[in-house]
Amino acid sequence: MARILILGAGFGGLELSTKLSEALGDDAEVTLIDRGEGFVFGYSKLDLMFHGKSVEEVRLPYADHVKPGVRLLRETVTAIDPAAKRVTTDAGVHEADYLVIALGADYDLDATPGLAELDSEFYSVPGAEKLAAVIPAFSSGRALIGVCGAPFKCPPAPSECALLLDDELRRRGVRDDCEIAFVIPFGSPVPPSPETSAALESEFARRGIELIAGRRIASVDPARKIAVLDDGAELPFDLFLGVPKHRAPDVVIESGITEDGYVPVDPATLASNVPGVYAVGDVATAGVPKAGIFAEGAAKIVAQHLLAQIADGAEPSRHLGQGTCYIEFGEGRIGSVDIDFLSGPERTGHFNPPSAEQMALKEKFGADRRSRWFGR
Ligand SMILES: Cc1cc2nc3c(=O)[nH]c(=O)nc-3n(C[C@H](O)[C@H](O)[C@H](O)COP(=O)(O)OP(=O)(O)OC[C@H]3O[C@@H](n4cnc5c(N)ncnc54)[C@H](O)[C@@H]3O)c2cc1C
Repeated sequence: MARILILGAGFGGLELSTKLSEALGDDAEVTLIDRGEGFVFGYSKLDLMFHGKSVEEVRLPYADHVKPGVRLLRETVTAIDPAAKRVTTDAGVHEADYLVIALGADYDLDATPGLAELDSEFYSVPGAEKLAAVIPAFSSGRALIGVCGAPFKCPPAPSECALLLDDELRRRGVRDDCEIAFVIPFGSPVPPSPETSAALESEFARRGIELIAGRRIASVDPARKIAVLDDGAELPFDLFLGVPKHRAPDVVIESGITEDGYVPVDPATLASNVPGVYAVGDVATAGVPKAGIFAEGAAKIVAQHLLAQIADGAEPSRHLGQGTCYIEFGEGRIGSVDIDFLSGPERTGHFNPPSAEQMALKEKFGADRRSRWFGR
């Protein structure tokens, strides 16, 4: 029986183990390793900050990911030897015939001077939980939503944060005493979709949110409450909601398999440069945005490749880099963008304006995965 070792039980790892279990059942020998207690959807961080949810409500315990042929181990990966397909954790050593790295992207707070000391990012669960307690006390002055570098997860998420903060301040009747500014390194909020960007920009204009596009936060001074942009401009703030620079986790970088901070893979197959080693999701450079829906799509392709090799599975399809990202526009409205990065010569992003249908589809997106991965 081929031994398949999957590192990371996020969007990519959960979908891959589910696919392999569906195809192989007890004939699989799949080991899925994650250090966490459970899975949290990326967008749940906004639920913690703006929709009154608790971590317990949004966390899906790994104990509920019960799949024939899959062993889920709660361990921390401490070393990876890609060539030997050998992985060391805080509990021991695992050897495999196929290794899939799905450890996501980590945050490099030290890459932005002052950011670690300021301790005000909303891209991790603890960070969002902390800010959920801070935001209610903000009722005057300037809020700054600041992105420290690209690529970053879920490009629409900082825009959603700005709109939901605006909602929250209006709800409390303090919006006129507050300013909201939003710094993003791209030229527009969602570059592959001009229609989506235009819709977000018109929301910002309607609500008096200042968009500073094409710039990133280069450093912050927690004592003076100043953010410095990459062109040297200084922006004062009273509340900072930050998106740190991203890169692959240290353990992946130390394995020697990364280039420019991520694992390079063949975008069509997700194969790394090391035979038998694949990388899916945010940890890889696969020519797609860093979002769960793309990690999941990549995992489906890797499942096909593994099944073709170990179980005479069908000819694998090409990874097309397609997926829908839902976007909270505030005021209870949800729209989406259908992204297609790899199927044709051009990257495309079709905008679906906010509607009751989009809201129902986002609900279904979460419910389908809760049921498929966690039996809920
Ligand atoms: C605010 C916000 C909103 C978002 N909204 C959306 C959205 O609406 N739609 C969407 O598709 N995406 C969204 N995303 C992005 C999405 O969450 C990520 O892109 C997605 O989770 C990536 O999946 P992955 O499998 O690559 O990695 P992850 O889901 O990050 O999983 C990686 C796993 O590896 C584990 N791990 C890491 N290091 C170790 C180690 N050393 N040992 C053991 N385990 C380890 C982690 O615990 C984690 O469970 C959002 C992100 C944020 C921050």
